[in-house]
Amino acid sequence: MPTPQIRMKALEDVLNRSPRVAEAPSHKISEFFATSVFNEDAMRMFLTEDAWYAVRQATQHGERIDRKLADQVASGMKEWASSKGATHYTHWFQPLTGLSAEKHDAFFEPIGGGRSIERFDGSMLVQQEPDASSFPSGGIRNTFEARGYTAWDPGSPAFVIGRTLCIPTIFISYTGEALDYKMPLLRAIRAVDEAATAVCQWFDKDVTKVTCTLGWEQEYFLIDKALFFARPDIMMTGRALFGHIPAKGQQLEDHYFGSIPDRVRAFMREFESEALMLGIPVKTRHNEVAPNQFECAPVFEELNLAVDHNVLLMDVMEKVAQRHDFRVLLHEKPYAGVNGSGKHNNWSLATNTGVNLLKPAKTPKENIRFLTFFVNTIAAIHANADVLRASIASAGNDHRLGANEAPPAIISVFIGEHLTALLDGLEKSIRGVMTPDRKTVLKLDIGRIPPVMLDNTDRNRTSPFAFTGNKFEFRAVGSSANCAGPMTVLNTIVAAQLEAFRREVDTLINKGAKKDEAILRVLRDLIVKCKAIRFEGNGYGDEWVKEAEKRGLNNIKDTPRALDVWSRAETVKLFADMKVLSPVETAARHEIELHSFALKIQIESRVVGDLAQNHVIPVAIAYQNRLIENVRGLREVLPSANAEKATRIPVGLIEEISEHINAVVSFVDQMTEARKRANGLENAREKALAYCDQVRPYLDRIRYHADKLELLVDDELWPLPKMRELLFTR
Ligand code: ADP
Ligand code: MG
Repeated sequence: MPTPQIRMKALEDVLNRSPRVAEAPSHKISEFFATSVFNEDAMRMFLTEDAWYAVRQATQHGERIDRKLADQVASGMKEWASSKGATHYTHWFQPLTGLSAEKHDAFFEPIGGGRSIERFDGSMLVQQEPDASSFPSGGIRNTFEARGYTAWDPGSPAFVIGRTLCIPTIFISYTGEALDYKMPLLRAIRAVDEAATAVCQWFDKDVTKVTCTLGWEQEYFLIDKALFFARPDIMMTGRALFGHIPAKGQQLEDHYFGSIPDRVRAFMREFESEALMLGIPVKTRHNEVAPNQFECAPVFEELNLAVDHNVLLMDVMEKVAQRHDFRVLLHEKPYAGVNGSGKHNNWSLATNTGVNLLKPAKTPKENIRFLTFFVNTIAAIHANADVLRASIASAGNDHRLGANEAPPAIISVFIGEHLTALLDGLEKSIRGVMTPDRKTVLKLDIGRIPPVMLDNTDRNRTSPFAFTGNKFEFRAVGSSANCAGPMTVLNTIVAAQLEAFRREVDTLINKGAKKDEAILRVLRDLIVKCKAIRFEGNGYGDEWVKEAEKRGLNNIKDTPRALDVWSRAETVKLFADMKVLSPVETAARHEIELHSFALKIQIESRVVGDLAQNHVIPVAIAYQNRLIENVRGLREVLPSANAEKATRIPVGLIEEISEHINAVVSFVDQMTEARKRANGLENAREKALAYCDQVRPYLDRIRYHADKLELLVDDELWPLPKMRELLFTR
């Protein structure tokens, strides 16, 4: 007979914990910020003038560093790392598993005769060959020649964690294909730089470089270690696959959520200090939406660095959480019935002259530039909504998109009342040849943007892609995602749109149109063309689903179908033309994502089968046996007429339990069969679809009956910590 020992023990553990106090290195953040980073200051101290200059040129202009200088950089980097206590080094990279990866090597090298030296030279800095066979490659790396190697990315500074020097790298095959998130991201950043700089040249000849900026907001749940290990489903899949919704959910946004428990606060302090030492400019955030849910956000940074910092932060959070007996849940929907977690991506473009291109300015001339980037971004989203949708597709995010507390799976853009009025105005006023009067009115209109933009009140939190005053906020990104995925897509489509725009404007100018007039005319055409994507209403409402359908906007609800866009000829061509992904790379990524989806559902389905059969059913039967004993006893001691009445309730319960047990068992059988059929499919898409349509629905069916059993069975017997315990035990 199963016992609920683990559950009771876990609850006892949680209730007996006290906060772990860890002092920050100093009261002044400036005294320890980025002290673990090989940044500008550290480089000046530890590098020769030549080496320092070479790194700078590489960072700012993508120039190659020759072997001799690389040796010098390596030597300085090692000196610095040793001064921080590092004994090992690793290339740190982001393979398509969605996690960061590292392979540690010691600086130490035996040289024979029982002697050894400390060694770290340019070749070790620049290139490393991890045992890459376990990383997904989507068929790229099937031959021996196509093994992968990692290559130093000087654009993101090295850092020390514990005793290891970590060197940010990209991960590529020997045939040159990208095997990670970073390489396509760097290519997309370059594409935007080229396209946006060319457009900026119309307005300001001093603009020679445009960088993308990203400020992410990371949501996450915390769970006590003991509860985590008492829930094999959470441990194996990151989410609760069972558990009846508690009587108290988040519907009461009461004081309960207002105060952060001391243990959590202690965790936050420590992980923020660690993040700050690594140069991640986190700012304390304490807002919670769901119970045990929290958020953390840094000041925005250049995109490449921001992506690394997010991946690093997810790592650091996990490590620090363990010291506090917590586990971090980065899953998009750990608990049914309460809010899921997202990772808003705040995105903008900035010039080397210090201008935020998505910030309305003070003069009509500057605002034409603002409108150029603003409208082209919207046009890019309109033309490529499906690719953007695909960029946020994952098994976890499927539970969030379209659920009624998260952005819908329909991609739309929110711009607010004032900018809507402005675009509507432009649409009407710019037609054919403009009279001087019209031009004056128009310039006035355009010049009037700034004051209204300061009014930030009209925000729409139900939009997947919202303009928020001086940046766009892509809200549909999942909490566990690597920002590089969606950011690569966003920047590529914006770059392509800007290129097309420039060609059209140039054509008009060549035909004799004035520059401003040409720009406004093409902008007007775009405003008309991409109108369908603009939506200011409630994105969570059912009316929007109908309205979007009328407008011809797609509402792709699951991952395998969302990913289909990657095999469309125009998508393949777009990413190849922009030199972000070759057709081979696109196909590989598509396959990896399909595979990863199928794998995740497969694991969830196995865990559900296992828990249902080995935890839920035995307990239900044990309790049922108790009831049967009870009925027998009643029949023995009571006269038969009274026994009839007295046994009515236990007999009813016995029947009810039987029904749910039967349902669970039969659904588990059916699910196993469906899984077998899915596993028999060779084609990655067919397999993912089979997991999506044939296997996944059983998870909810089984859960429904298991959760009913949870309500029927004596609480003392139930082995899995219940939802209320997961959400409210602190
Ligand atoms: P919320 O979306 O929760 O209301 P905020 O408005 O405070 O939160 O979030 C703003 C986020 O946008 C911050 O993380 C900030 O770093 C980021 N951000 C601000 N300006 C830019 C910019 N120009 N480019 C990219 N991100 C930015
Ligand atoms: Mg936000």
